[in-house]
Amino acid sequence: MSLEELYKEVILDHYAHPRNHGQVEHPTAEVHLHNPSCGDDIYLDVAVKDGTITEARFRGAGCSISQASASMMTESVQGMTVDRARRLVTSFHAMMRGEGTVQDGSPDLVALAGVAKFPVRVKCALLAWDALQKALDQAEGENLHDGQKA
Ligand code: ZN
Repeated sequence: MSLEELYKEVILDHYAHPRNHGQVEHPTAEVHLHNPSCGDDIYLDVAVKDGTITEARFRGAGCSISQASASMMTESVQGMTVDRARRLVTSFHAMMRGEGTVQDGSPDLVALAGVAKFPVRVKCALLAWDALQKALDQAEGENLHDGQKA
């Protein structure tokens, strides 16, 4: 089996058996993003406590790349600090520009490196990560609000 075939298997496995599928009971942030170029939808729920992502779950519909990327993303950031997750978002963006591979998070993430060669599919892969970035912005705003109340 070539590396390319192996990566395809990893992506299809996440698509068929998405990790962290569903909703967070008491989310700090909820984000819905739509990718019109492919028709992908991602609904992301994130719970953040004391600067750490305690839970990340998603629902969605769309192509295998978009859903597998969401599955790998939620698997990666579960238990991460918000700062570390933001750095991972930045390095995932770099990987989608063909600039190296990510060094943190789920080891399955490297399976998406080949997507960089297909600009149309890059939007599919980035959808969940854009949703995460938005959710973390929301969550940090919420924490600030809590701080002011205290
Ligand atoms: Zn797509």
